[in-house]
Amino acid sequence: MALKDTTDHTAHPWPRCEFAMTIFSEGECQRPGEVQLNGSLLCVPHAELLRLEAREDTLLGTVFEMDKWLDNPNNRADQLHWQRVLGQRDEVLEQLRFNRTLVEVHRERDQTSQ
Ligand SMILES: [Zn+2]
Repeated sequence: MALKDTTDHTAHPWPRCEFAMTIFSEGECQRPGEVQLNGSLLCVPHAELLRLEAREDTLLGTVFEMDKWLDNPNNRADQLHWQRVLGQRDEVLEQLRFNRTLVEVHRERDQTSQ
């Protein structure tokens, strides 16, 4: 019986992306980890995905704050200012839509590559 090489179980030739361990349990990412993000080593596509999702959270928070401000009757006194914030809110919503599209593209690309 030939001696089997078992080194492939213990060590990878490169550090692997830790995306699966941090977010989803379904399957591990096979790509090399190249980017340090929030204490995890991630491949470039997954780091980008997490960056987009963090951006979405930030934008949602911004819209939430703007809604609160717009709903406050005291802030309606200054119509010009109020209208300006309403316009900025639309811009943030537009960014959110664009960001969401990018997230979807990343997710789909991720699924087809495995
Ligand atoms: Zn990955």
